[in-house]
Amino acid sequence: MDTLPLFHNLRGARCVLVGAGEVAARKLRLLLSAGAEVEVIAPEACTEITELAAEGKISLAPRYYQTGDIENAVLVVAATNDRAVNQLVSEQARAQQTPVNVVDSPELCTVIFPSIVDRSPVQIAIGTNGTAPVLARLLRTRLEALLPAGLGKLASLAGRARGRVKQSIESGAGRKAFWEKVFNGEVAELVYKGREQAAETHLYEQLEHEQLENPDGALTGEVYLVGGGPGDPDLLTFRAVRLMQQADIVLYDSLVSDGVLDRVRRDAERIYVGKKAGKHSISQENINEKLVEFARAGKRVLRLKGGDPFIFGRGGEEIQHLADHGIPFQVVPGITAASGCASYAGIPLTHRDYAQAVRFQTGHRKDGNVDLDWEALVKPGQTLVFYMPINGLNNICDKLKDYGMSANMPAALIERGTLPEQKVHCGTLTSLPETVVRERVSTPTLLIVGEVVTLRDKLNWFHEG
Ligand code: SAH
Repeated sequence: MDTLPLFHNLRGARCVLVGAGEVAARKLRLLLSAGAEVEVIAPEACTEITELAAEGKISLAPRYYQTGDIENAVLVVAATNDRAVNQLVSEQARAQQTPVNVVDSPELCTVIFPSIVDRSPVQIAIGTNGTAPVLARLLRTRLEALLPAGLGKLASLAGRARGRVKQSIESGAGRKAFWEKVFNGEVAELVYKGREQAAETHLYEQLEHEQLENPDGALTGEVYLVGGGPGDPDLLTFRAVRLMQQADIVLYDSLVSDGVLDRVRRDAERIYVGKKAGKHSISQENINEKLVEFARAGKRVLRLKGGDPFIFGRGGEEIQHLADHGIPFQVVPGITAASGCASYAGIPLTHRDYAQAVRFQTGHRKDGNVDLDWEALVKPGQTLVFYMPINGLNNICDKLKDYGMSANMPAALIERGTLPEQKVHCGTLTSLPETVVRERVSTPTLLIVGEVVTLRDKLNWFHEG
């Protein structure tokens, strides 16, 4: 580390600002918002600073800087356009060991103003040690977008409740678990929605509940049923990543990509519960039982699935089992393969001119027989998306034709959608099955049937252009 970031308490402290132009005014605003007593020294001042002086919010000495001006200051800022003056202020401040910042001259500084994300009392300071202020500002913009506006209010609420929580929950681990629940659960959501009063009430209710349920402060486990999306980790939701980062143990399927799995907390225990080719795979009942068992042991259990947990994902069965056993859970939606593959392949699922509806259909049936409502499927004006299509592909294409769909209906098979190795095989109901045999595709694959597939030529400029 080249410097040590510290948060400086300036309330009531004497700070001297040399210079009173626009740049100085920006620093002044920061100093005032931190509660400093600021003395500004400059022969001329911009309107903002003149007005602040007139309102008595700062003191303004309308003259050039003189030796002795910075005596007894706890912080000195030089923001004049005269390099010699800036240099003198810097030297004299350093001689008396007072922290000094000189605007745009890192070599004259002992302290640097960071870029600030302010959700007071939560503050994030970003610095690049003077090397790339623009980068610091870009990072700030990203963080601004990432952090809920109500974060500060949440921290204030926590500050108010802290004493009572400490009294009520004796064990440190118990308190930590309680706060994690507050910051990740309903209380935080209520604050973010602007319902602070309800959030506060809810927090104390939870505290009471915690005492009744766990008088000795033992942890209650929880299950997070999270949709990991189709593969590209950039498609995870913020909520998914948050929960992935706080899980103690993760049970994941074969559809979860390595990139997504990488976002899980490093020291979480990992259990693969997907199917392995030719090997015995763990049954759904067994998974359900494990979820209950781990949660009862006080663990935060991440059940991570490909795509969306409620779309051909058996998520419904799993939470039903949890509910039957009184285990708390949260469900986080994910981008389902249809959405992910369609947008990465440049195929809009609906389009005013071609498709007014889209059907998600499984191409795989328990007994291996693709026995679907073909009459409904061949109706015009809709896009068909078949999950798990590969084994029944011939059968699907033949049946659609038998029931009256055009043999030239465009169709696309998307292989390993949204992943770097994504491939899109386009054809018609007649040609696609042959193409697929020839190209030897690897799973997972998704089949899209409908006029919208033709739009791909125009729209596919982004991902494969
Ligand atoms: N819950 C998942 C679907 C599970 S069923 C979801 O919402 O996406 C498994 C099927 O999903 C696979 O057989 C395949 O048809 C489809 N699928 C999932 N990820 C895919 C990907 N990256 N590319 C293509 N198809 C995918």
